Amino acid sequence: MCASRRRVQKQVPPCRTAGEKLHVESRTVTASTGSGQGDLHEVYAVRYAHHDRKAHENYIGGDPHDILQPLAYFVWVIRGAHGTFVMDTGFDHAMAVKRGRVIVKPVAEGLTAIGLDPDQVQDVIISHLHYDHCGNHDLFPRARYHLQDREIAYGTGRCMCHAHQRIPFEADDVVAMVRKVFDGRVAFHDGDEQLVPGVTLHHIGGHSMGLQCVRVKTRRGHVVLAADATHLYAHVNEGRVFPITYSVAETLEGYATLKKLADSPDHIIPGHDPDVLKRYPAAKPGLANWVVDLGALT
Ligand SMILES: [Zn+2]
Ligand SMILES: [Zn+2]
Repeated sequence: MCASRRRVQKQVPPCRTAGEKLHVESRTVTASTGSGQGDLHEVYAVRYAHHDRKAHENYIGGDPHDILQPLAYFVWVIRGAHGTFVMDTGFDHAMAVKRGRVIVKPVAEGLTAIGLDPDQVQDVIISHLHYDHCGNHDLFPRARYHLQDREIAYGTGRCMCHAHQRIPFEADDVVAMVRKVFDGRVAFHDGDEQLVPGVTLHHIGGHSMGLQCVRVKTRRGHVVLAADATHLYAHVNEGRVFPITYSVAETLEGYATLKKLADSPDHIIPGHDPDVLKRYPAAKPGLANWVVDLGALT
């Protein structure tokens, strides 16, 4: 085990110290400016799993409509001149069985479908340490993982003494991340930071103490990959809150942050809304309802 870890470690780029503090730029830059093209990125949502549930399960205070409101499970891919970033790693079949979810297509298949070899991925952004965002521990053997300080503190500290707070966490996921820390494969971030020109991380908190979203400059403007800062469009649009939360107040403040970072409400990408698959075109023929192009000028 140690030998293979050492071998992998050599291939991983060295950890950077915390990047420069982000200075959020104005929202006026688009592809039409003709300058700064090197900071434009492609962005894709890759669906990997599904869960049927009733609407009332998705909101604190329930929902008056007795209808199905399923969740979709995604990872996201950001591709640009400065490299490729995978945001979140999903979960595998064993976790799907344990949690009563259905894998639609394994994460690796979705990535391969858009020409991405998981073995070659150098950078993975982890939005937060819930089981549906940080499983598949060995899928990216060469990657460095980007994580907020507050999330590892939350997932390894006193809050995990409470069964209720542990519900969305899996000990094996947290331990796997701690092992990556010791292998020199985690880059920690504190608040808002730029990874490369056009890609910035933003601490949101709320749903999980160290939850972060990612703002990406694309041809259609600044898109915000919200992950669980808003599970569904309804959460951010109607000011409603998903039942799993570290802080309701931070969750609601987070909606304001998402709106500030995105060029429009249509530039906010919720973490679990199946409607994302309908709003955006397939990344290429044959990938409809599976991998969609979030940077497409629709
Ligand atoms: Zn979550
Ligand atoms: Zn989630």
